[in-house]
Formats: sequence, structure tokens, C-alpha cells
Amino acid sequence: MSEHRLLMIPGPIEIEPSVLEAMGTRPTSHVDADFLPVFSRALASLRTVMMAPSAQPFVVAGSGTLAMELACASLVERGDRALVVDTGYFSARMAAILERLGADVSRVSAPPGDAPSIDAVCAAIDRHAPRLVTITHVDTSTGVRIDPAPIARHAKERGALVVLDAVCSAAGEEIRQDAWGLDVVLTASQKALGAPPGLAVLTVSEAALAHRRARKSPPASLYLDLLEWLPIMQAYEAQKPSYFATPAVQLVGALERSLTAIVAEGMETRFARHAQVAGAFRAGLHALGLTLLPARDALCASTLSAVRYPPGVDASLVGAVREEGVVIATGLHPELRASYFRVGHMGATALPEILTTLGALERALARSGHRVEAGAAVAAAMRAMSPTGARP
Ligand SMILES: *Cc1c(COP(=O)(O)O)cnc(C)c1O
Repeated sequence: MSEHRLLMIPGPIEIEPSVLEAMGTRPTSHVDADFLPVFSRALASLRTVMMAPSAQPFVVAGSGTLAMELACASLVERGDRALVVDTGYFSARMAAILERLGADVSRVSAPPGDAPSIDAVCAAIDRHAPRLVTITHVDTSTGVRIDPAPIARHAKERGALVVLDAVCSAAGEEIRQDAWGLDVVLTASQKALGAPPGLAVLTVSEAALAHRRARKSPPASLYLDLLEWLPIMQAYEAQKPSYFATPAVQLVGALERSLTAIVAEGMETRFARHAQVAGAFRAGLHALGLTLLPARDALCASTLSAVRYPPGVDASLVGAVREEGVVIATGLHPELRASYFRVGHMGATALPEILTTLGALERALARSGHRVEAGAAVAAAMRAMSPTGARP
């Protein structure tokens, strides 16, 4: 067996060989004539991926948390009211960022594994009259996905800006930024975008940029001010040299390759593929006698699954699965951490990776004393993928 273990966590994820190759190149000048079209194509592709022809893309060295900070620091002034639609760990992080900025933060929450109803969110918007509403599209701590469209519609009617934390959803779950009226969609390179970690990625509406321009005072941080980056991104897209802070040139090259592949696949095809792979994986999990953390099927994300340990099995399962050649993740939600594990299935992940993971889980569970019929999970996933069990 090769030394490589299949990486099935909710980011970083497996990357395509062409993307990996971009990481092994020599650094070029960030204003080199060969680099400008690469950055330009990456920015243009982001509009396609987020279905946001009218938005301004930003790519900044940093992780997803930096993307969250860039959005909040640019749009929120001390004392502004903000509403956090709270579905878990990363919603709590968004609230913490907003509180550091001096915002007056309210939350509309649900128990772990659930999401507040659309009615509850809309009522909270009416009650608090926030300037900013934040939504975690897929909360990576619970695998819960929320529908941002009706929330965004209501928030816009009430004059609020809407920020979607799409770190664990963009390029895997359906996002129509323009049609849904999302002001900021933010993500990071290492999740469904299929590149290595290291880039914060945002697409920002003209309304949000106008809001930033109209602030009483600029953000305290230079690096976190989208207006500092705006002329840089515009220049790169126009293939003109520009400098504010050195871009991560190899990472931008890797991102560009991955985005090109995503655009070639087509967004509708990609959303459908993620839903199909997730459905097949869940069918396999059910065949293993396992249950999911999200309270209802409709809440289950297509990009990752949060799965309860069966009785008598604990977090040592994650190590046992690793010994079987597949890397999965432990729980993350502080209240439930020890009771479940997480498996990412996004990006280039397809049926072979899902089958490998189910096989590794089956063997590891058997070693933990949880016996299931040999091959049942793989067979269930195959059947779910296509009625004849053939590879589509
Ligand atoms: C991973 C993740 C983040 C944080 O991204 P980092 O790159 O780890 O900083 C934020 N929100 C969500 C929903 C995530 O899945």
C-alpha cells in the first residue's frame, strides 16, 4: 500500500495533480507578465463559481478565518447591530469576531445538530433590526446546512447586509450570490475549492463596498480593509501590475488551476454531483448502522457528514480508520465533541473515495467490536449511486 492516506476531513482536502504541480513551481515576481493572467483568470472564475457576475472577487493570503475578519472589519463599526444565525462552532467564531469589533451582537440559535427555523430568523431580524446578518451556510462542526436564500431576502427587505460564511460550502453546495442578494460570500482555498490551505477568498457586492466607503472611520486594521485590496484586485483582473501586500504566488497559481477545473465541470453539475456523493455516503453509513448528527435529512450538508459513534465505540475509531488508510476528523462542537466524528466529501471526491472510506470504517468498526455484514456499506453506496449498482 502506498504511504499516502486518503484525506477525507472537512478541509484540507485531496487536491488534483495539476493543482499540486502548481505548488512545486519556483516563485515568480508577483508583478511578472506571466503571473498577471493567472491571477486575472482566478478572479474572473470566482464570479462564475459564486454565480455573482456583479460581485468583486478578493483573494488574500490567509485562512478562512481571515476572510471572516476581512468581511466583518470592513463592514462593521463599533456599536453596529449584528445578528448571527447560529448553527454551531463557526457561527460562534463569527460572533466572537463581531464582538471584538465592538458590534452589538444578537444570536438566533438552535440546539447542536439543528438550525433555527426561517420564521425564527426572520422574527429576530425584525426584532433586532441589524445592520449585518451573518449565516454559516454549512457549519463544519455539525454538518448542518441552512438555506440562506429566504433569510437573505428578508434581511435585504429590512435593509441589512448579508454575509455568508461559505467556507465549507462554496463550490460544493448551491450558492447563487447575485440571485439571492448575498453581499459577501466568503471561503478559503482548502475546502471545496480544491486547493491547498493558505488563501482567503471573498466575493463582495457593490452595496457592501458602498457601505464600506460610507463609514464614519476606516477599519483599525489596514490588512483587514477591503478598500485597500480593491484597487489591487481590479488591477490584477485587468492584468496590470499592482502591489499592496505580496500575494502567495504559488497558491494563487494552484487556486487558478482548481477554479478552471470547477468552471469546466459547470456549477449545476458540480452541485448535483456533491449531493449524489453525499447521498451515497449516507446510504453506506446507514448500512453500517450509524446515525447522523443533523436532526433531519434536509439539514444534512453535501460537503461533509457528522456521524455519531455507535454504542461502545469512542473517538479511538478515528485512529483505527487512519490505520486503515483513511484520515477522518473527530467531533468539533464543544457540547458533543466526544460523541461523533466527521468525514468531508467535497471537491474532486467521488464514488471511489467514498467506497474506500466506507470500507475503512467497516474494518475499523469491526475491530472496535461493532460488527456489520461484510461489504454491506459499500453495496448500499453503490446502489444509491445508480439503480443498477454500476458506476455512473
Ligand atoms: C473551516 C471553516 C472556517 C475557518 O477556516 P480556516 O481556514 O480554518 O480559518 C470558517 N467557517 C467554516 C464554515 C469553516 O468550515
